[in-house]
Amino acid sequence: MSRVYNFSAGPSMLPEAVLKRAADEMLDYQGSGQSVMEMSHRSKVYQSIIDQAEALLREVMNIPDNYKVLFLQGGASSQFAMVPLNLMNGSGKADYVITGQWANKAYQEGSKYGEAHIVASSKDKTFSYIPKLDKKDFTPDADYFHICMNNTIYGTLYHELPDTGDVPLVADISSCILSQPIDVTKFGMLYAGAQKNMAPAGMTVVIIREDLIGHARDITPTMFNYQIHADNGSMYNTPPCYTIYIAKLVLEWIKNEVGGLDKMYEINKKKAQILYDFLDSSEMFHGTVVKEDRSLMNVPFVTGNEELDAKFVKEATAAGFVNIKGHRTVGGMRASIYNAMPIEGVEKLVKFMADFEAANK
Ligand SMILES: *Cc1c(COP(=O)(O)O)cnc(C)c1O
Repeated sequence: MSRVYNFSAGPSMLPEAVLKRAADEMLDYQGSGQSVMEMSHRSKVYQSIIDQAEALLREVMNIPDNYKVLFLQGGASSQFAMVPLNLMNGSGKADYVITGQWANKAYQEGSKYGEAHIVASSKDKTFSYIPKLDKKDFTPDADYFHICMNNTIYGTLYHELPDTGDVPLVADISSCILSQPIDVTKFGMLYAGAQKNMAPAGMTVVIIREDLIGHARDITPTMFNYQIHADNGSMYNTPPCYTIYIAKLVLEWIKNEVGGLDKMYEINKKKAQILYDFLDSSEMFHGTVVKEDRSLMNVPFVTGNEELDAKFVKEATAAGFVNIKGHRTVGGMRASIYNAMPIEGVEKLVKFMADFEAANK
């Protein structure tokens, strides 16, 4: 069996130890005589899986007791509507920072339900930086302030969070959840699709402060109401059972094998540094993001020559470095180096890039 180094932005690599464990437990989950895919979500054995997943997430992310953890479906994209439907209930206003496509989609959805206001945008330079924010541009009575913390497509990360005072900060952390410690108390709500750094596709985690629950608009579909899911322990209907189970295994891996999020963060910084150091020293390859806003998870780069980019992607794929083509809206290359990408995957990629540079001078 030979496995490739998969630089996909999502769905993406999972830790090999997790895949092996899932394989071991596939036919008979811990003596239940069934796979997790087959069991009733109302069974005791499944209840224990979802309870452990939540407990582990709370422990690993240090989530305070006054926040609810919800396991939902509909992707991070459904949150773009769920957030305004549930939270835009006071002034009917909300602030958005536009740092890329996902942030913009969130804003567009928010605009359908109230007065969504763009505080700042980095569109002028193809989202290659995080805009400096000026508090006087914030809406003082906004119901929430929305950011996309790590911009998967453009490769930028907020290394510092905006100070929104009493206005709840809401963040899409789909592509940076579990990559570094996050101070949950700084946020009213966090949400993340699972398929980047947590599990296979099919599940969205919502972490929401309790006082923000229970004020959804009358028109809110039942399935879009956080209260319904909070009251039912994420089991109002059938939850994404198997994805939640894999998330549990991934969280066990982070806790027991890696040693927690501080350790994970150290490894991720080291991994990203290897790639950025090479990009900074290369004459052929260049990172596209300003240094101070670089993502640890998604690293876009170009040669400046589209033909050479295409040649690189082709040869890299043949050499076992797959899904390294940039997003269809950006071009070039993008190496997504989530938690599960081993350090030697990045070292080997850099070696391959150096050899390619030497051969194509
Ligand atoms: C992938 C991604 C999304 C979309 O997630 P879906 O689960 O496909 O809806 C939203 N936001 C960010 C930051 C992402 O990386």
